[in-house]
Amino acid sequence: MKSACPYCGVGCGVAVKGRFQPGSLTKQPEIVGDLSHPANHGALCVKGSALKESLSIPKRLLYPRLGNKEVSWPDATGYIAQKLKETVAKHGPDSVALYVSGQLLTEDYYVANKLMKGFIGTANIDTNSRLCMSSAVAAHNRAFGEDLVPVHYDDIATSDLIVIVGANTAWTHPVLFRRIQQAREANPDLRLVVIDPRRTTTAEQADLHLPIANDGDVLLFNGLLRYLSDHHALDDEFIAMHCEGFDSLKAEISRDQYRLARCAESLGLSREQLNTFYAMFRDTPNTLTLFCQGINQSANGTDKANAVINCHLATGRIGKPGAGPFSLTGQPNAMGGREVGGLANQLAVHRGFDPESVAAVGDFWQAPNMTTQPGLKAVELFEAIHQGKIKFVWVIATNPVVSLPDSRKVAEALARCECVVVSDISPEADTAAFADVLLPAAGWGEKDGMVTNSERMISRQRAFLSPPGEAKADWWAICEVAKKMGFSGFDFATVADVYREYAALSRINRDSPYLFDISSLSSMTDAEYADWQPQRWPLGRESHLFSDGVFPTASGRANLITVRHREQAARPGVWWLNTGRQRDQWHTMTRTGHIARLAESETEPTVYMHPLSASQSQLTEGQLVSLGYDGNSMLAKLAVDEGLSSNQLYMSMHWAGAFGFASRVNQMVAPEVDPVSGQPAFKSAGVTLSPT
Ligand code: SF4
Repeated sequence: MKSACPYCGVGCGVAVKGRFQPGSLTKQPEIVGDLSHPANHGALCVKGSALKESLSIPKRLLYPRLGNKEVSWPDATGYIAQKLKETVAKHGPDSVALYVSGQLLTEDYYVANKLMKGFIGTANIDTNSRLCMSSAVAAHNRAFGEDLVPVHYDDIATSDLIVIVGANTAWTHPVLFRRIQQAREANPDLRLVVIDPRRTTTAEQADLHLPIANDGDVLLFNGLLRYLSDHHALDDEFIAMHCEGFDSLKAEISRDQYRLARCAESLGLSREQLNTFYAMFRDTPNTLTLFCQGINQSANGTDKANAVINCHLATGRIGKPGAGPFSLTGQPNAMGGREVGGLANQLAVHRGFDPESVAAVGDFWQAPNMTTQPGLKAVELFEAIHQGKIKFVWVIATNPVVSLPDSRKVAEALARCECVVVSDISPEADTAAFADVLLPAAGWGEKDGMVTNSERMISRQRAFLSPPGEAKADWWAICEVAKKMGFSGFDFATVADVYREYAALSRINRDSPYLFDISSLSSMTDAEYADWQPQRWPLGRESHLFSDGVFPTASGRANLITVRHREQAARPGVWWLNTGRQRDQWHTMTRTGHIARLAESETEPTVYMHPLSASQSQLTEGQLVSLGYDGNSMLAKLAVDEGLSSNQLYMSMHWAGAFGFASRVNQMVAPEVDPVSGQPAFKSAGVTLSPT
């Protein structure tokens, strides 16, 4: 049976060979890479290779719980429906919220958004994808008029220059990085540039590594645009025919701070380093720029992403094989969530809250309480819970007590909330401790549905196991609550019914500029849904998005966005803490922390520091240190890493309260967000550090 890996946005296909034998230690099937899947052609990374071990997590949640009591599903969903109705009646629809996840399948996501935005009447439903790629979404919308990724994985093989910005792809998207390595083996002229303040495993393999100063990306790419302009290397014809906003952007890049010498100095690079990169970019039409959390997880992440996109638009390097800006998504279905309107500021099928879209989606749903305004984004949403404005929250497939910034305050917020519902596979997830109602969710391998990866490839996750106890798919639980609230429109017999309705909704885009239209799938039979083979949308289209130079904006032209670099304020006495993924762990470790071979690479919370900084601070490798931020503190072991700059610390983001450690890294991260996207600045925390 074919399925898709649940860990990251590469979206690798897997093949399950054999049948699971409950209780048998010897007769178990293998989970291997799917040779026929276009994303990975059979390859899997270390995490993907350990999928079978991840199936037996130490403790599963088997039955719904109300307080400490096991209850039936009808009792649990009846209680939730009643609480929702009472809260909305007393305090209005904006007093309730859902906080969901890029782990959800598209069908789960769709019904959750339909319930909240069309029936309860609030857009207070946000997703943990807010934390990983909402700045890229905002930048795509600003530049292209729609959230569109114009690049495919196949472009890697036809590119002559790959620029990776703010991503340790070798660790975070390993199978995609393997494709880059293979492309370099096949094409010795293909060069790799890595832009990252830290010398990562990815940077070590680059032809050129630019260790820029923290948050220097806008300066770097505006400087590149200035250099290209000075060297007459912009595509004037493409700009004139297909772009708007060039005059304003040109005025911006003419500022003195974008001169190469000034840029190099501000970025902490030599002029030769910067000139080498700029000349490479100038001389290589087939350039791909991959970007991820170093761009997105920033207080100006949307501007950073637009600075990258500007360089591709102004050189006409978009809509062609081997060229374009490529936002990598973190989670397996972050992209599917964007398609169904999983973010609080979106409606389904790539629509926003303009009156025409609200009317079109509301009509299709026959929605009694269609919301007309965006809801609260993740950090704001938990702030509103903390302030008592939101009195009911349902958290599905995510662990915000660990993963959100200022996570101690998130825990306080949940402790204060009048009603907290948590759907999870484990009762031991940190957030589950705050639940008034716990719902047992079916996990990977136990449920069916669609996911979309970083390159818009829609794949199937398939069930090959029976859910244990009374665990159920999330879409089913949401629909049960909706029906108990008295809403029609949630009577889906199967998950395929949900997908067909969602596909039919996208028909509203047919005569509009929007390109997200999968309405041909609304007539899929059950057998066709079951047999779905991976396909990229727009379905049946061979050419690249924008190959005709037409963009889904009102004018049909792309927008060059004027973005400005702002100098960082000095933070004396404070270390700059950068956080990110370990190669072998997933999120808050709830599915991977128990697997011995994945735990080996980092066995305890560890903070990394340059060896010179350690000796200057009279610290030694291996000693316990205390990190502090705003009254929060955590302990970690000190390790040294020559790849860090002198003022920088690095920690992996996964450490939580689980497994006996009280070391939540995100307690150290201030809730500072990008003003456009609402994405938190996880990469730039300011912390104190002292010996214990
Ligand atoms: Fe899974 Fe991502 Fe690894 Fe592929 S690269 S096997 S999708 S974790």
